Order: sequence, then structure tokens, then C-alpha cells
Amino acid sequence: MECTKCKKRLDISYYSLKNIKNNIYYLHCDICREKINNQKNKKNIEIDNYDKTKNNKFILCKCGKEYIAFRDYHIVRHENTKYHIKNILNK
Ligand SMILES: [Zn+2]
Ligand SMILES: [Zn+2]
Repeated sequence: MECTKCKKRLDISYYSLKNIKNNIYYLHCDICREKINNQKNKKNIEIDNYDKTKNNKFILCKCGKEYIAFRDYHIVRHENTKYHIKNILNK
């Protein structure tokens, strides 16, 4: 059976049953399927980290505005906004 992913001809033992009842196998060999799963997990971890960073970088500015800053220049950018300058000057 040829894997549709890596194009290798492999023994049927390299494939898992997708549907046991109807004896249907996955078109990708187990090696490729594992690789694909690992990539998916990696992506999920990256998304998780992104969310965590986002939550950690929540800034409540003295002008009263809450914003998210991933990088220092986000803070600089915020401090140059009209909103920030106006509210700081009014205090
Ligand atoms: Zn394969
Ligand atoms: Zn501000």
C-alpha cells in the first residue's frame, strides 16, 4: 500500500485502521500520521504561549486606558496616542 503523503510503499502493518468495521485504512502511513499530529501539537503549544503572553502583558496605564503590549514599542506607541497625552495633561 502506498502512502499518499510520503509516497513510500509500505507493508499494511504500517497503516492504522480508520474504520475497523468496514476495514478501511488511513491513506497516510503511521509515520506520517505521527508527524502530522506532532505538528498540530506544536501549533497548539504556540497558540497557548501566545495567549499566555497576551494575558501577562496587560497594562493599565495611568491615563486610565487598558491595553496589551507584547513589546516595548507598543508602550511607546500608546504613550504617543492623543488619548494618552490628553488624559495625562488633564490630571
Ligand atoms: Zn507516509
Ligand atoms: Zn496611557
